[in-house]
This record gives sequence, structure tokens and C-alpha cells, in this order.
Amino acid sequence: MELFGYYYNPSTDTHDVKSFNTPFKVICNSSATKDLIEEFVTVIDNKADEFAEKDSGWILLNFIHLEININKFNPLRASSFIELPPEIVRRQAVVNIRNNDDYCFAWSIVAALHTPTGVDFVTSLYPHYSTVLNTAEQDALNLYHTFLKTPKKMNTLTELEQTTDNNAKNCHICDKPLLGDKVADNCHKTGSYRGPAHSLCNINYKIPNFIPVIMHNLRTI
Ligand SMILES: [Zn+2]
Repeated sequence: MELFGYYYNPSTDTHDVKSFNTPFKVICNSSATKDLIEEFVTVIDNKADEFAEKDSGWILLNFIHLEININKFNPLRASSFIELPPEIVRRQAVVNIRNNDDYCFAWSIVAALHTPTGVDFVTSLYPHYSTVLNTAEQDALNLYHTFLKTPKKMNTLTELEQTTDNNAKNCHICDKPLLGDKVADNCHKTGSYRGPAHSLCNINYKIPNFIPVIMHNLRTI
């Protein structure tokens, strides 16, 4: 953003156009544009004040115009193929898979494990990563099919389980009084009865109690 003003200096009887600009900033969908504009205005305000204090004598007659320059921001996309500079290619020391998907990391692992059948790094020279690696996507699908897709119905309660359930005062998950809010919690994998529970505790308990952790180069990001 750049603001142009028309100035007059009475001591030299001269007129001049002065402008004050801001640095470029990246604006994404999630950016707080209003805050950014306010920040720009503050920068321009400060620069104009500095100018007035430093080169005293100039009087602002009027603003001429405000210029806003917008350039399309094209961030580096790291997930797919990027052409290497020729000097790096010539060294033949870098594996640079020509993939068209978002699995450059998986393809690179495959390339490290398998000798290519040709000179270039096209994906057809390697076995598909899904046949070599258990990707997170595959792991998630396995978890879904194992635990969530077809939950097993609860087994019929044994006499003892039924008595326990009838007499239960506390939720077996949070250990707080049931106070009339009671459902029979069961394991969705085996169908076995686990105990009496609050309806909300029962729902929350169904969500797998693990967090997938994915590491890249064994470094945290
Ligand atoms: Zn509970």
C-alpha cells in the first residue's frame, strides 16, 4: 500500500509529491484483512510523521491517491514433484521422484528401498508405494474396518451382569452417580458387556483412545 500526498515548502516556495509505502504482506483466506489494513495505515501514518519531523517545513496540501498493489501469491507446494536446478541434477546424488500425487515422501521411501529399472525417477520404475508401505491412509482404513464399520451387537447379559446392571449406582467409566441416566456399555469389537454408563460417557468411550502420530525424518515439526 502506498499513499501519495502533495506537499508545499514555504521556506523554498516549492511543491512536491511525496509517498509513503508499506512492506508486502501475504494474505490468505484465513488472514484478518481488517487488522492488516489497520496495520498498513499505522505504518504509513508513522512514516508521514517521521518525514514531517525530519524534513521540517513541508506542509501537506492534499492527498493525491492511495495505491494498493496486489500480486498473486503462489506458495511452494512441497508434496509433489519439483524440478531440480541443473547443477544439482548433474551430481546424480539426489533422488527426485516425478510423482503427480501428494505422496512424494512415500515414493521417496520406495525409491530408497528399490533399485529403479531405468535412469529417470518416474514412478512406473518402482513398485507402487501402497504395495510396499503401510501408509497412514491404509492404517486409518484398517482401523475403520476393524473397529468402526460393523460394530458388534451386545451379547445377551449373563445373570450376574444383569444383576450388576440393575443394582449399579455409578457409571463404570467416570465413576460418578448415574442418577437415572444409564445405558449398558458394551465393547463394539467383541460385543461383551462392560458395565453401566452415562449415555454421554458411553458415546465418548466408543471413540478410539489413541492419536495417530506421523513422523517425517524422525523429527518433530
Ligand atoms: Zn459417566
